[in-house]
Amino acid sequence: MSIRLSNGVVLPMEMHKVRIVQKTSLPPAAERLRAMEEAGYNTFLLRTRDVFLDMLTDSGTNAMSDNQLAAMMVSDDAYAGSESFYKLQAAVQDVFGLKYVIPAHQGRAAEHLLAKVFVKPGDVVPMNYHFTTTRAHFELAGGKVLEIFTDEALNTQSDCPFKGNIDLDKLHDVIHNYGPERVSFVRMEATTNLIGGQPFSLANLRAVKEIAADHGILVVVDASLISENAYFIQKREPGYADRSIQSIIREIMDLCDICYLSGRKSCSARGGFIATSRDDLFARIRPWLPVYEGFFTYGGMSTKEVEAIAVGVREMVDPDVAGASAEFVEYFVRRLVQCGIPAVTPAGGLACHVDARKFLPGLDSFQYPAGALSAAVYLASGIRTMERGTVSMDRDENGKELASDLELVRFAVPRRVYSMSHIEYAVDRIQWLYRNRGLIGGLKFVEEPPVLRFFLGRLEPLGDWGRRLAEAFRSDFGPDC
Ligand SMILES: *Cc1c(COP(=O)(O)O)cnc(C)c1O
Repeated sequence: MSIRLSNGVVLPMEMHKVRIVQKTSLPPAAERLRAMEEAGYNTFLLRTRDVFLDMLTDSGTNAMSDNQLAAMMVSDDAYAGSESFYKLQAAVQDVFGLKYVIPAHQGRAAEHLLAKVFVKPGDVVPMNYHFTTTRAHFELAGGKVLEIFTDEALNTQSDCPFKGNIDLDKLHDVIHNYGPERVSFVRMEATTNLIGGQPFSLANLRAVKEIAADHGILVVVDASLISENAYFIQKREPGYADRSIQSIIREIMDLCDICYLSGRKSCSARGGFIATSRDDLFARIRPWLPVYEGFFTYGGMSTKEVEAIAVGVREMVDPDVAGASAEFVEYFVRRLVQCGIPAVTPAGGLACHVDARKFLPGLDSFQYPAGALSAAVYLASGIRTMERGTVSMDRDENGKELASDLELVRFAVPRRVYSMSHIEYAVDRIQWLYRNRGLIGGLKFVEEPPVLRFFLGRLEPLGDWGRRLAEAFRSDFGPDC
């Protein structure tokens, strides 16, 4: 919920209270420099003890509710026939209106199963935008990911409410050019993670479904951030202002053949699942579950997490839960825009994103501007962010580097974790960096893994800029900050 103050300022309001806390600490700049060097200028390789605000991701880092924790205590650890599974199934049936649920240990495990069953060598998988693990699994199965976003999608300073829409003409072209039999399915991601958490509209999904159905092609929704996408539909799509989050989610589910999700995002738990109402699709996917994940009543998850997801699915339709992160992101983006900093607009789900190409126009893609800015943010603040740019792209089959469409630094806002002073601190340190952006240089790989290189790769600054940036910070703020 947002509250309008008497001076007209609109503030996001926490509709919950904090009852369990985790202590955090702010290491001074000299310590941060040491930690960043040890981490190979890759924020993934930092240790929590060296991080003040962990804005790497909203994945598995959300604050759980009292009811989720309570449910975990009564989980049923049966290998087969666990009652926890039946609670999850009932929650998915009630909230999504889908008949079958196939639990999997994470979202990417769901993607692996879908790739195994539906993606054949030579296939194409059109989608509004890829996610890192999605692309890896579909390509490992021999498929090709085709991103058919609209022209507005990559405009980081936009007022288009639905940058996550699919371009319908491009969808027609894909079907025409490859033939419907080579299209594994159309994938629609709720709040496209890599282009700034941007939602799709129901009107667009409806049109996608119509075109796909005309050619006998399946529609798969990646519902990891479904409650946020529904929240944006309610706020932005004409005709939906009076509709509940629950009824919008139902309408989305009515338009897809299969949905899958990572339980680490909207559901504020860990784990994942695939859901469908179609007997034939269920029958094709389920046999693979015990091969890769586990028996069908736990699917590789702890039954505690099965319980937590079951409660999370029911709770995420509460508008105060669906909007908890989105409203903070909106505030964060608004503050950065006020300060003249190139944040991605409109504000999306999951995170505030800063456009590193605009922040650091002197760096080309292969000097990794988003990676460099992400490292610089840590040096200046102790805030851990995530690079979403060329470092996150793997090389092509010929070993050539691929430049990312966008170079973004993602300040994830995990649900119900951080407060207003944390956001104001982040805004202040980003402003300081913007004034000192001339000090920030590029990066180069010194250790580069062959797949999903951003997770474990190690980099080095081109020149000595990390040290100089830390020095500049110390001289402005003193040795203790
Ligand atoms: C996180 C995420 C995934 C992968 O899920 P994991 O649980 O991290 O394996 C897939 N798709 C989207 C949109 C995500 O945000």
